[in-house]
Amino acid sequence: MKPLSSGIIAMTGLLSVGIASQQCTPADERSKTDKPNFIVIFTDDMGYGDIGVFGHPTIKTPNLDRMAYEGQKWTQFYVAASVCTPSRAGLLTGRLPIRSGMASDRRRVLFPDSNGGLPPGEITIARILRENGYRTAMSGKWHLGHKSPFLPTDHGFETYFGIPYSNDMDRVLETRGVSQITLAEEENFEAYNVPLMRDDQIIERPADQRTITKRYTEEAVERIREFKDEPFFVYLAHSLPHIPLFRSEEFKEVSLAGFYGDVIEEIDWSVGRILETLEEEGIAENTMVIFTSDNGHWHIFETHGGFGGLLRGAKGGTFEGGMRVPTLFWWPGQIEPDVVMELGTTMDLLPTFCKLADIDLADDRIYDGYDISPVIFGTGSNPRDIVYFYRGTQVFAIRKGSYKAHFKTRPEYGDPTTTIHDPPLLYNLDIDPSEKYDIADDNPEIIAEIKKVLEEHLATVVPVENQLEK
Ligand code: MG
Repeated sequence: MKPLSSGIIAMTGLLSVGIASQQCTPADERSKTDKPNFIVIFTDDMGYGDIGVFGHPTIKTPNLDRMAYEGQKWTQFYVAASVCTPSRAGLLTGRLPIRSGMASDRRRVLFPDSNGGLPPGEITIARILRENGYRTAMSGKWHLGHKSPFLPTDHGFETYFGIPYSNDMDRVLETRGVSQITLAEEENFEAYNVPLMRDDQIIERPADQRTITKRYTEEAVERIREFKDEPFFVYLAHSLPHIPLFRSEEFKEVSLAGFYGDVIEEIDWSVGRILETLEEEGIAENTMVIFTSDNGHWHIFETHGGFGGLLRGAKGGTFEGGMRVPTLFWWPGQIEPDVVMELGTTMDLLPTFCKLADIDLADDRIYDGYDISPVIFGTGSNPRDIVYFYRGTQVFAIRKGSYKAHFKTRPEYGDPTTTIHDPPLLYNLDIDPSEKYDIADDNPEIIAEIKKVLEEHLATVVPVENQLEK
């Protein structure tokens, strides 16, 4: 990233959030309010092209666009996996899901009959912040284990309000296929007997998903107001726009982009509520807000499944559309507005938050995330040069710098055939973000370099108990 054109904002911000004091003052001697608050807004299956500022021509997202104009739009930001459960494990632990047993080739995510979950020995963002004086709360979709000891409240969140797994699970009516799911959406929400939980108790079943975006938001707003005098982490993980789609009365037929557009515009409203709340409480300048998605759009559901923009592929696969997600950082007065084209991943959030909150990472485990605060503040170079594209337990592709090599490919859903590529398919993503033009034949030395990265990486992966197959 280029140096900031004006370093004043960034440097003032660093000082006011306590970075400078890291060298001399232990965390427990400083005022709690010196530490920044963190809010992660995470959507489910929103595609790279589903936000106005990321190029959607008919979905209106003024609040998300505002986050981009006042903050940073990250154009090359990735998730840890292209489906829900492993992606969320990566976000919350700062580690590739293979390391916690949260990746499988047989069952790609957790289901209502699953017995596993994120192991209690994993340290989530919530846990490490909570242990260091933060207040913590989550509203929304968890999907890291719905039985004790895997619930949010077992993993560092003081409070939880949301659904424990995907909104299309616990089907009561057979709704496979686009037309059946479309029929079951909205008016027939009982087709999915999904529980709504508060902490570790089910409080409503089936969850009335027509109002779910609104209720998650109000819960997050309440927690922000409750926590405002202490440092806090709020994780707002919308269960939409994962199909089946739902929207509240006020958002019926408001979008030119149809039902899917209505759902995104309601999520945009939700983002506005969060930003407004921070401003009303006078804590916006001490709160970093990050917006991103857990994986790409679910293309098999056609117009109800979102839009990946110029990227190839979708949810479930290892082409860019499955794992590059629309990402925004907002922190008024602290980060300089920019379009950031550096690499980043959701796994980088845990080490970055810890750096900003002056917390040491555990030294008994491998972290796959990096502290990317030098990129955010324009104070240094990006520690990340490599992105791994796992499908289940296997590395299908690796990006190093501008280049991405696909060793294996497989259709996202349906056809179970894995194609092995030797030499791998090779794309220059800076020049060819749509992965159209294979340049392997002309670049054997780049392929050799990426193969070495693969070998070295695989040597760091230690087998652990598989949580998705229990
Ligand atoms: Mg998802």
